[in-house]
Order: sequence, then structure tokens, then C-alpha cells
Amino acid sequence: MLGVLGGGQLGRMWAHAAQTMGYQTAVLDPDPHSPAGLVSHLHLCADYLDPQALAQMAQQCAAITTEFENVPAQALAQLAQTKFVSPAAAAVAVAQDRAQEKAHFTRCGVPVAPHAVLASAADVAAVSEALLPGILKTARMGYDGKGQAHVANRAELLAAWQSMQSTGLAMPSGDQAPGANAARASSPNLEAPHPAQASTAGKAIVSPQGHATPSATVCVLEKMLPLAAECSVVLARGHDGQMVHLPVQANLHRDGILAVTEVGDGALDPALAAQAVAAARDVAQGLDYVGVLCVEFFVLHPDGPSGKTSLVVNEIAPRPHNSGHHSIDSCDVSQFELQVRCMAGLPLVPPRAHSAAVMLNLLGDLWWSGAVSASAPVQQHKNAHPPTEPAREPNWAAVLALPGVHLHLYGKTQPRRGRKMGHLTCTAPALAQARDVARQAAQCLGLAPW
Ligand code: ADP
Ligand code: MG
Repeated sequence: MLGVLGGGQLGRMWAHAAQTMGYQTAVLDPDPHSPAGLVSHLHLCADYLDPQALAQMAQQCAAITTEFENVPAQALAQLAQTKFVSPAAAAVAVAQDRAQEKAHFTRCGVPVAPHAVLASAADVAAVSEALLPGILKTARMGYDGKGQAHVANRAELLAAWQSMQSTGLAMPSGDQAPGANAARASSPNLEAPHPAQASTAGKAIVSPQGHATPSATVCVLEKMLPLAAECSVVLARGHDGQMVHLPVQANLHRDGILAVTEVGDGALDPALAAQAVAAARDVAQGLDYVGVLCVEFFVLHPDGPSGKTSLVVNEIAPRPHNSGHHSIDSCDVSQFELQVRCMAGLPLVPPRAHSAAVMLNLLGDLWWSGAVSASAPVQQHKNAHPPTEPAREPNWAAVLALPGVHLHLYGKTQPRRGRKMGHLTCTAPALAQARDVARQAAQCLGLAPW
């Protein structure tokens, strides 16, 4: 039996891959209706730090993984005392903290966005003008654009910083997620109420001036960059250091949430894609990583005399990633099978893409907009979401009538705005065809064109 911490859709698709290969699966997740728990042989419905549940997991599973980075690092460390855990707690700890993550990228010689770590009011006051306008992000616990604020100037930066201090979204940087609050954390795949996941309680932070201040919600201020595009690399690294990767994904985000992923010839400039793969390998190597890792990048608009676009690493996810979901339908080895192979110490072969693909995320919003006719402007229904109006199942039959459409629903019974309910992958021999079908599917569902 193989085990996973977290029972969201990533755990569910991993369980499907493991079961296809003959493994039984165990899931630890406090939600009795977790998507992965529903399809697994064993669902331990308990907190991530529950000693009995962890003991049972260790006893029954040959190897254990995680499907979200905010799992308490102690849970992974405890399991690792007796069983193989992939990825290791130390690598997950880096991914849990934007400040550590950026320091790691810099150590690896991979370009990062200009940024400053803000641990105190004094740090905020000392911010360089060159970082504005910027995006203030909590160092910990952010996902899908949550825990972020766009700040145009110093006044907005201060207001956003103060607001993040009072909402307490994150824990002090450098702390491992300790205690009961972190233990109650649910997988982000389930979109649990976020502030409940975190604690502001912690040790005092010493400002650069040497004054100890009460615990702060450490944040990272990033310069707002001119993005031409975004891309990601999903790779798998085995015990022996061998690495394989999926075709590089071109990603479109809306409101901080992945909306569209494209893969295939024409999705990205090949030289840029090769650069992204090389950088992702350096990042994995530097962590001595074993398992599936996603590295996300910004593609910057060309400036300067060279007129060339350039790449900046954004963040990592120590697990399969939403942008790699296409691999289930477009490659001969999916990102979830790679995760199973890493856990089981099986050989890693380079996934071969047999189709171009466009993946569309299906958010809960569609349950209110799905029946909208193709001519209705998306903006109209995006914010008009009367809670009194009953949710309606989108018209799946209409999209499934299109060639090469693969529908994946995650078994979540309650649609909510912004909640990831499923995805569609449109495959075709060439990207132009996959795009064409995906655009028709988007129109059927009332998704915004891109
Ligand atoms: P999350 O952890 O919530 O995914 P990200 O840091 O990846 O947060 O930010 C979400 C999205 O916001 C990115 O995919 C990108 O579209 C946009 N974004 C984030 N940081 C910047 C930046 N420094 N400049 C421009 N856009 C950004
Ligand atoms: Mg991101």
C-alpha cells in the first residue's frame, strides 16, 4: 500500500494512477468527503499530526507522499523515521516559505524577481523604491493568489502589510508549521477557509535594528514584473538523481488561479522552454529532491537592446501540479504515474507526448454560468453570482460531443466560486486543433476566451 497526506484532487488522481499499477492507497485527511479518501482503500480521517493516524500510515504503507506543501513538516519527518517519504520534509519546508524558496533559487543561480523579505515594520519602512509597484505576498500559506495584495506605492504597501498582520494569514518565516492550527490545515485542493490554517502565534522576530517585535506575519514584497507569459516544468527526480520531465507548459492565470494550460509545438519558444527545463533541474538538484516537482516561471517582456524575452523563476510546488494535469491524456506517462514510480523506486522514463493539449480548469463558478449561451459576456456572470440562485450542473454533454475532450471531475459535491471542481483536457495532433476545440468547449461552458 502507498500513502498520501492530503485528500484533494491531486491525491485522487495519484490514487487512480497507483491503483492502475496494482497498489492499494491510503489517504490521511481530516475531511470525511475528501476526493482522494472517497476512492482509496483506506481513509484515515484525522488531523495531519494525529499520532495514531500517523502510526497507522507508517505501519500500513511502504512509502508515503504529500499532495500539498502546507502539510506540517513534522508529520513527514515522523513518517520518515520508519518509511520512505517523498519528497523529504526538508524540501517541503523550503516550498512552504517564499523567503526560503527565493533564497534557494538564488543559491542555485536561477534568476528571481527583485524582492525584499519584510519581517518587521522597520523592514517595510526601508523598502527600496525600485520594488514599487509590487505585490505583497505572505511568506507562508498562500496559494491560488490568496494572501497577496497589489501595492502601487508606499502608502498602499503599509496598509497591506498592516492588514496582513491583523488577518494573520501566515506564520513567522522559518518556523516549521507547528501545533494544532497547522494540524487542522486541510489540503488547498479542498479550498479550506484559509485564515484557520495558520497561526500568528510564534517566537518574537528581531528587526534589522535589533529590536525584538511581537511575531509578525512575514511577507515578501516582489516587484511587479511585465509578464509576457507564464510557464512551468513538471519533473521527476529519482533516488539516483536521474531526472525526467513533462513537455514545458504555457500557463494562463486569472485572478491568481490557473485557468488554461497549453502544451505542444507552438505553445512556447523552444529556446525558452529549454532554459526553463535547465533551471528546473538546477532547482531540484539543489534540493537533492526525490519525487515530482513543479517549477513555475514568469516569461518577461523583451526589453533592452537584445530584444529577447527572459525567464524568472516564480515558485515551486513539491508535488504534481495543476499545470501537469494534461499529462494524463496527452502523455504516455502522467505526472501521477511519475509520482508513484518515484515512491516505489521504479525506473523513470521520459514521458512521451503523443498529443498536443489544452487544459481548462473548471471552477465552481461554472455551476452558475454553465447554462449561459455562448453570446453572453463572461464579465456579466463573473461577479453576478446571486447566492440565492441554485447551482446547475454545467452542460457536459455539449463539451463531450467535441472531439478529443477528456472530462475530469473531482467528486466534490459542493460547487463554490473559485473552487477547483475539475478540468477538461482537449487533445489533438497539433496545438492549433486542440486550441480550436478548447475554445469551442469554453464557449459551451461560458468560460472567458483567451
Ligand atoms: P500563488 O502561490 O498563489 O500561486 P503566485 O506568486 O504564483 O502565487 O502568484 C499568482 C499569480 O500572480 C502568478 O501566476 C502571476 O500571474 C501573478 N504574479 C505573481 N507575482 C507576480 C509578479 N511579481 N509580477 C507580475 N505578476 C505576478
Ligand atoms: Mg503560483
